[in-house]
Amino acid sequence: MHNSHIPTDYEFKHSKWIKKMLRAYWLVVLTHVVIQIGCFLFLDYDRTPEDFMIHVLFWPTLASALAILIASWVERRFSSFSFYSMSMASTVIAWSIIHVNYDIRIILAICLLPIFASVLFFNKKRVWTVCLMQMIGYVIVLCDPAYRLYLSSFDMVSIPAFLIVGTYVAQLIVISGVEVLDDLQASMLAKQDLIVRNAIMSKQSKTDGLTNLYNQSSFKDYYEKAFEYANNGMSLHLALIDIDNFKSINDTYGHRVGDVILERVSLVIQENVTSSDIAARYGGEEFALLMFEQSFEQAYTLVEQIRKKIARLVHPELEGAYITVSVGLQSYSPNLSKDKLFEEVDACLYTAKRTGKNKTVTSLDLSLTVEENN
Ligand code: GH3
Ligand code: MG
Ligand code: MG
Repeated sequence: MHNSHIPTDYEFKHSKWIKKMLRAYWLVVLTHVVIQIGCFLFLDYDRTPEDFMIHVLFWPTLASALAILIASWVERRFSSFSFYSMSMASTVIAWSIIHVNYDIRIILAICLLPIFASVLFFNKKRVWTVCLMQMIGYVIVLCDPAYRLYLSSFDMVSIPAFLIVGTYVAQLIVISGVEVLDDLQASMLAKQDLIVRNAIMSKQSKTDGLTNLYNQSSFKDYYEKAFEYANNGMSLHLALIDIDNFKSINDTYGHRVGDVILERVSLVIQENVTSSDIAARYGGEEFALLMFEQSFEQAYTLVEQIRKKIARLVHPELEGAYITVSVGLQSYSPNLSKDKLFEEVDACLYTAKRTGKNKTVTSLDLSLTVEENN
């Protein structure tokens, strides 16, 4: 079966940096070749052309190129080992360059490069592993009698000491980097916590504790916004829903039962409005509903559906009695102000109450009533 390993974000970044490092190593090898050829052509170089070609150009470049190729291959095939193959490649490059140029004393500093490259991965163990690789590189290069001859006994001891001190500095960078990362993460978590708490608090300040619907003050904000949108051509309908004879529920069954009924009624409203509608508890047992993106008929159907569902609710607390609501509904019209629209909807609700309750009255009904009265 095909083993499909989905790389994590960390592995992706890790692999991205290894690829970048390997590309940089090609550049190091190329630069070394160019400098060597330049030195051979233009400076006094105490090597025969043959010696130069074989020992300065061919073998070190071949070893370095092979090491990079192997590291690239490992990176593609066994990405979990890619850090070590990358460090191995840089070790080979560093010690080939040191070996070729051992008469330049400062060239030894190049063996610090693999160690400092490993700092990128912010892991102490890796930094020391790469230090160990340099020690091995040193021992291998020491096998060359010519190199040994060149080193004083002081060099023999100071090179490993130099490596250890260099690695220690690299380790300090890792530790401080990890600390910075931890601080960053801690402050990010604190910030997230704050954002969540702010969101909860702003939700609390906008909603009603009993019913979870928007409260009157947030409804007013939304209504103002909605009215602006409506002025710009968006459809808007406003409904006021008031529970019928609620006072007698409180009087007969107690305030606590009244609260249960309020919650149950709000739940029906909540469950029947769409996500673009805004439902609020406008007063004690009065709800306001803003509906957008629909025709008047759709809005009417929606509030009627809510009214009928509420009327059918069974309330165990009320010994078989039913609860009804009256509704006033009207659409936005350009000749109405924000307050005027609200007043008209309130008038509709009042008419519904006056003419028997448990019904929806709209401005169309109102004009009919007015005509009848005339
Ligand atoms: P109508 O059909 O005309 O609307 O009559 P009503 O009795 O429903 O209206 P009224 O305005 O006379 O009474 C509303 C009652 O709602 C009075 C108040 O005690 C009650 N009420 C308001 N808020 C709450 C609440 O949060 N919980 C409870 N249990 N009752 C509340
Ligand atoms: Mg009422
Ligand atoms: Mg009322």
